[in-house]
Amino acid sequence: MKILQTVASAIAPVPDGGQRRVLVPTMGALHRGHRELIRRAREAAGKEGEVAVSIFVNPLQFAPGGDYEKYPRPESDDDEFCRNAGVDILFRPAAKEMYAHDFSMFVDENSLAHTLEGKSRPGHFRGVCTVVAKLFHILAPDAAVFGEKDFQQLAIIRRMVRDLNFPVEIIGAPTVRETDGLACSSRNRYLSAAEREQAPVLQRALQAARRLAANGERSAAAILEAARNVIASAPLARIDYLELVDAENLQPLAVVGPNSLIAVAAFFGQTRLIDNLLLS
Ligand code: AMP
Repeated sequence: MKILQTVASAIAPVPDGGQRRVLVPTMGALHRGHRELIRRAREAAGKEGEVAVSIFVNPLQFAPGGDYEKYPRPESDDDEFCRNAGVDILFRPAAKEMYAHDFSMFVDENSLAHTLEGKSRPGHFRGVCTVVAKLFHILAPDAAVFGEKDFQQLAIIRRMVRDLNFPVEIIGAPTVRETDGLACSSRNRYLSAAEREQAPVLQRALQAARRLAANGERSAAAILEAARNVIASAPLARIDYLELVDAENLQPLAVVGPNSLIAVAAFFGQTRLIDNLLLS
């Protein structure tokens, strides 16, 4: 596995002709969710192709006072994780090289980014799109893999690639969960024992919503109330948002349709977790 720490070194070795390069962008603190993305990247790259993982805690997508400073950075564990996963290239640039002191160019999505995470975290998707555009330019992948756990991020990256003509195929990967249903996340390690015990309530609430919809309930208000009641059974959970949206345009729905997504963000103490589920 090649470890590349500078932009210049990552730009230099252009993959030769027929080889496919597939990128998995991450912020590190790698877990089973990332492992699944790497597995899909290998599937897409083929045995002869290249799987590249980027590890970059992107300051641009954190709010001032957010967890940028304390975000976990277990470098040697991540190296070993990537080696064991059969990664060919690990790209780990420094923030000061990625962003010049007078950096002033951004990629801004202006429709999908206004709801859900975008509403709670202004500027977040501008940071995400900008760094992913840079990674696409630097590493020139043929394809890139993103998790459905960050459903809105995946939708926005697809939109960016479509609207700005990036020649990169975007591959979505389903959410990997712990056995109790909690979505794997680098932030789970912040949870206290009591918070960790209660955190699976998010997935239980989304499943309850899906059952209700499967039994014919169409009112978004009724479905959201049922989900909210499940979350209320966990005293350590504080809902940031709980919304039913159309999975295409991410706009809120009053009536559940054929392609509806329920999405939640909730705090457990200082830790903010997200999850989502398609209702049909
Ligand atoms: P992160 O390192 O949290 O920025 O995530 C990097 C990529 O891994 C993103 O495309 C995420 O959607 C994806 N990811 C994170 N957690 C999971 C999970 N539990 N299952 C599947 N993909 C995930």
